[in-house]
Amino acid sequence: MTALADYSLAELQAELTSWGFKPSHAARVLRAYYAAEGEIDWEKLRLPAPLADRLMGLARTSVALAARQRADDGTAKLLLRLGDGRTVESVLMPDYRDDRAAGCLSSQVGCAMGCDFCATTKTGFERNLTAGEMIEQFLALRREAITGGRRLQTVVFMGMGEPMLNLDNVVAAVRRMADNKLGALGWRQVTVSTVGIVPGIDALAASGLNVHLAVSLHAPDDASRQALLPVSKRFGVEEILAAADRYQAQTGRPVTIQYCLLRGVNDSVAQARQLAALLTARRMHVNLLRYNPTGISLRGIEYEPVTDASAEQFIAVLRGNGVIAHFRRPRGREIDAACGQLRQRLS
Ligand code: SF4
Repeated sequence: MTALADYSLAELQAELTSWGFKPSHAARVLRAYYAAEGEIDWEKLRLPAPLADRLMGLARTSVALAARQRADDGTAKLLLRLGDGRTVESVLMPDYRDDRAAGCLSSQVGCAMGCDFCATTKTGFERNLTAGEMIEQFLALRREAITGGRRLQTVVFMGMGEPMLNLDNVVAAVRRMADNKLGALGWRQVTVSTVGIVPGIDALAASGLNVHLAVSLHAPDDASRQALLPVSKRFGVEEILAAADRYQAQTGRPVTIQYCLLRGVNDSVAQARQLAALLTARRMHVNLLRYNPTGISLRGIEYEPVTDASAEQFIAVLRGNGVIAHFRRPRGREIDAACGQLRQRLS
């Protein structure tokens, strides 16, 4: 462990004991660390001087802000440089309410999943993020929100990487974010997304975290999904939705289906009907996304965003079949809006 962000409460208690100090200091230290808008006020903590000295070393972060982009709508994209020089993106998105914001966190450096329309995967997979590095992102976004007069209200693991392939660290980070002595976010304020790693969905359900689950489906049938998402060769649409059913049954939380509309690829009326047929009997919400162009894809395709007319038609078919569907408001269009773009440009 090299930083306070790396410790759970129990781990810091054990560390303090091993150093010969009372474990009861740990909760106050971590609470101050998670609440600090800048530096921890060490004097206020009134710790024994030798303990304060050791902890000050741990409070120095090795994660630094490498770049920040702000859009007119208030979206802020942060590029964070990690201790080993690698970089990850974290995004703060303003809420409809003036005093709230949502944060998007990365779970890996790069990504191995190869989703064809994604900028992150173009540079490949480098490594998993530690739970501490996810906490550092969370705290950086919380400070960014406070600077803009907002409160970080929700967190989604939808940034770089596939969270289910780094689930142990994601779960450890979420436990600290949701701990009412530390991050103080409720379970309901956290969403973990996946492109459909079925064992990961089941493991997340078994973790007992009770967070929201978002499944990035992006196509209603295996053939068209396989052209976009190589992971579909391992897990078919029915298998993924069956895992989502189990998650929903176990947690009681409606699953969100993410669907990024790509012009001429997955935006037809027939595909809307297919998607509706899959979901009509399920209590799942559909989040329709507008694509932020990322240039030529891995397969040499230049995807384009859906037209307004096709988008309206698509959502009308879903709603006409009793499926709850919304368009996610586009964010930060004039900055490198798609996940992985800022990093690709500046790394
Ligand atoms: S969309 Fe997500 S899972 Fe797919 S390649 Fe990009 S970061 Fe990875």
